[in-house]
Amino acid sequence: MFRDIELAFIKLHILHHAGQDEVYGLGLIDELKRHGYKLSPGTLYPTLAKMEKGGLLVSETRTVNHKQRKYYYITAVGVKQLKKVKEKIRELYEEVYENK
Ligand SMILES: [Zn+2]
Repeated sequence: MFRDIELAFIKLHILHHAGQDEVYGLGLIDELKRHGYKLSPGTLYPTLAKMEKGGLLVSETRTVNHKQRKYYYITAVGVKQLKKVKEKIRELYEEVYENK
């Protein structure tokens, strides 16, 4: 898949999962692996940082089992964007698969 298209799908997964619960880097790498996306920390962390800078996510560093872990939460802006993008996904899905 073209990298920019793949990256857009990856971002949508991140936004979707952050919309359900807090997310963190390794958890996302595992989740995305399940969907066939090979994602290195070198790609994921800058993507998360961009999404945070863009106001979609906000992070908090917590210590779990003596290790620092950065958790990401969806923001109100992120929730709004997710809602919009979900409508677009539905529209695209219907066009691509149902010839609407
Ligand atoms: Zn997912």
